Amino acid sequence: MSVRLLLREFVIAKPQRPFALGLRDFSTRNCLSHAHHDHSHGEEEESILFAETLKKNPRSEEVRLTWLGLYSNVALAIGKGLGGILFHSNVLMADAAHQLGDTLSDIVTLFSLRFCRKKPTKRFPLGFGKFEMLGSLGVSGMLLGTASIIALSSVNNLYAQLSTNPVVTENLHLLTDAHSHSHTASVMTHPVLTVSLAFASVVVKEWLFQKTSKLAKKTESNVLAANAWHHRADAMTSVVALITLVGTQICHAPWLDPAAGCLVSLFVFKAGLASTKNATARLLDCAPSEVVQGKVRSCVQAYDKFPCTVLAVTGNAYGVHVSVNVPSNIDFTEACQTADQLRQNILSAIPTLVACQVTPLVEGCKQYEHWKDVFPPEEEHSHHH
Ligand SMILES: [Zn+2]
Repeated sequence: MSVRLLLREFVIAKPQRPFALGLRDFSTRNCLSHAHHDHSHGEEEESILFAETLKKNPRSEEVRLTWLGLYSNVALAIGKGLGGILFHSNVLMADAAHQLGDTLSDIVTLFSLRFCRKKPTKRFPLGFGKFEMLGSLGVSGMLLGTASIIALSSVNNLYAQLSTNPVVTENLHLLTDAHSHSHTASVMTHPVLTVSLAFASVVVKEWLFQKTSKLAKKTESNVLAANAWHHRADAMTSVVALITLVGTQICHAPWLDPAAGCLVSLFVFKAGLASTKNATARLLDCAPSEVVQGKVRSCVQAYDKFPCTVLAVTGNAYGVHVSVNVPSNIDFTEACQTADQLRQNILSAIPTLVACQVTPLVEGCKQYEHWKDVFPPEEEHSHHH
C-alpha cells in the first residue's frame, strides 16, 4: 500500500539516517520470506505516481505522517491482538489480523526495498523487482493463514455459544444427532477494556484519515489520498468491532462477537486472496501496467528523427524490454543510436525503472512478425485511449 511507498522512498533517499544504515544485509536474508501485501491492484501505477510526486513536493510533513501511521499501526495491532486473545474476543482478533497485515507490509518493505531496487547484476540482469513480488506472495499467504485460523475459531466459538443456549441446544441436537464434537464456548471477559480498545482504534484511525486527507488536498498527492482512504477503511473495520462489542454487552448476546469475527476475517481473507492473485500474475510475467506501457509508447512517439512504433513491452515496474519497429531504410548504426536514445528517454520517463532494454526491429523480420502476433495492431490502438 501507499504507506509502503513513502517508506521506500524515505529509506532510499536518506541512507545517512542511522535507522536506515546497515539494513541491506538484513533485507537480503529476509526479502524472500516476507514483504508486503497490498489491498489495491494498481500498485505499479501507484509507485510511479509516487516517484513523480516526490520530484515536485517537499515531503517532510508527508514522511512525518507516514511514520506516525506506522507507529499507530504497530500499537493498534499489538493492543487489539493481545486484547482479543486475553479477553476472548474474536472480532478484536480479526481486526488485529488486518492491522498486522498492514504493519508487516510496511515494516518489511522498510527492510527489503533497498535490496529490491539495487542495480541489475550479471546474475540478475533484469534487476531484483521480482524478489519483492515473491515476498508479497509470502505475506499474502500469511494473511490468508491468519484469517483462516481466526475464521475457524470464530465458527467454532459461534457453534459453542449457540449450543450452550438451551433453546438452540435442543434443535442442534436434533440436527447433529450423530456426531459429538467438543466445543468450548469462550465468553468475552473485561468488556470495558475490549470496548475501549476498539474505540481507541476508531479514534486514532479517523484522526489519521482527517490529517492525511487534509495534507493530500494541500499537496494534491494521489498517493497520500489513497493512504488517507486506507485509514478510513481501517476506521470502518474498527467501527464494526466497536458496535459488535457494545451490542454483545447491551443485548447480552455473546454469539454476536464470534459472528462478527467471522465476517471481518472473511474480509481480511478476501484482501489476502486479491494480493495473492496480483503477486502471482506479476511473478508469471504478466504484462506491465497500462501506465508503464502508455509511458513507453509516448516516449517512442515523441522521437522525432523518424517514425518508430512500439511492437511489444514486457517486464514489470522495475525493468522492461521494449521492441521497437524502425524504418528499414536507416543504417544499422543509426538504428542502434535510436535504441540508445529511446532507452534513455524511457528510463527518465519512468522513475521506478532500474533496467530497460530496447531492440530495434525492421518490418518483415521474424521477431517483428512474432510480436505482431502477440500484440495485434487493434490492441495497440486501444492502449492510446
Ligand atoms: Zn488496512
